[in-house]
Amino acid sequence: MDKSDASENHRVLRLLPSVDEVLGTEAGRKMVSEIGRKRTTSLAREAVESVRSEIRITDNRKIFTGENLLAETEAKLHNAGNNEKNSGLRRVINATGVIIHTNLGRAPLSENAKRAVFEEASGYCHLEYDVETGKRGRRGASAEKLLAEICGAESALIVNNCAAAALLVLSVFAHGREVVVSRGELVEIGGDFRVPDVLTQSGATLREVGTTNRTKLSDYEKAIGDNTALVLRVHPSNYRITGFTEKPSITELADLAHQNRILLYEDAGSGAIFDMSEYGLVDEPVISRSIAAGADIVTFSGDKLLGGPQSGLIAGRRDMIEQLRKHPLYRALRVDKMIYAALGATIKSYLQETALTEIPVLSMLSADTHNLAERTRTFAKSLLKAIGTNSDLAVEIIAGSSVVGGGAAPDVRRETMLLALMHGRLSGNELEKSLRMSNPPVIARIMENRVLVDLRTVSESEEVELLEILRQII
Ligand SMILES: *Cc1c(COP(=O)(O)O)cnc(C)c1O
Repeated sequence: MDKSDASENHRVLRLLPSVDEVLGTEAGRKMVSEIGRKRTTSLAREAVESVRSEIRITDNRKIFTGENLLAETEAKLHNAGNNEKNSGLRRVINATGVIIHTNLGRAPLSENAKRAVFEEASGYCHLEYDVETGKRGRRGASAEKLLAEICGAESALIVNNCAAAALLVLSVFAHGREVVVSRGELVEIGGDFRVPDVLTQSGATLREVGTTNRTKLSDYEKAIGDNTALVLRVHPSNYRITGFTEKPSITELADLAHQNRILLYEDAGSGAIFDMSEYGLVDEPVISRSIAAGADIVTFSGDKLLGGPQSGLIAGRRDMIEQLRKHPLYRALRVDKMIYAALGATIKSYLQETALTEIPVLSMLSADTHNLAERTRTFAKSLLKAIGTNSDLAVEIIAGSSVVGGGAAPDVRRETMLLALMHGRLSGNELEKSLRMSNPPVIARIMENRVLVDLRTVSESEEVELLEILRQII
């Protein structure tokens, strides 16, 4: 920097607004009323610093005046305010058609579950208190009783997620001993859940048997020895072995385990409470069937097919559940009161046989294709009406498929009707990005320069909002 630059630099820096001046701008005053003077002052200071650091007096396209610098700072403060409002978790509209979308929070809660969190669990509640005796009660007792009931099990326990459930079961029943698993079930299930790693972490030793595609009962039989703690059956979830395959049934495995006085533990993954083959889910173990077939312990996720909050559910023999509950690791993996409330309400829908209509995952999965097509046509009509006929947007309805997702049933697809949007001036990527940058963000798929909107995963109450977002972008 030569001498004249240095003095010019000095001059421009003196034109920077003071924090008080920034607070006095329209954006500043508005923010003070919304988020308070203290927080606004700190954001205003950051805005001034940011403008200061960006000053390049050699940039002769720019005219530095006090007015310009103030306007620039005000704009930065305004942005910072918006970011502050949008920080934290944001609700999004899931137009991808992926029902259990791990990146978008897996299962959306039912209205009953939301209400239960708010009304039963957001304040004081009888989490570990017996109202009748006035003494300490068992944590999670009511949700666990309901859970045991839908599983047809003696007892049940709730922990943080299915990975935690598997870790707890293996730590308690197989630490320092061997676990027999088929080579076809040594899988990784998204988000770094790897069966061999969980086994190692629990202190158990993996005894793999059979081959990737075929494992016979006799393979298990030969591997069982004095140090075998249990036979583990894992549902491969997001992986499929097809063609020349073989594996023993749960009943056969349970009989084998019990003849050898060891346990059968099934990690069922998704947790189908009833047979869902009608909706394309033909390979999902139904929890109560596994229990009836003789599995001593079954674990599964609360926020996949079950359609509840994130949780790991353990169902099985009463004596084993009690052992799990008493282990120190359980203390570290137990769940919050809000989870018990949401899960309890979700399970009640199953017991009352209203699950298909009340639990979003199930109502989306079972949504009738004709109704979906009708909804999509009506939506397209409203959209065309809202944007006018001579807009740049081409709206088409095409057949496609929705997927279950979430580490469950990778090849299960449901027929659907998609809204295919093509814009005259925006590329598919640009249109998708505008949707994503809306408030709330709309997450959609792109196919060959078109943006695809699948109403299967958009609730009817979100349609008006989605229409308005599309109208504004276009
Ligand atoms: C999804 C899944 C898990 C992991 O469950 P989280 O609830 O995500 O921890 C474990 N095992 C199986 C078989 C699964 O499908």
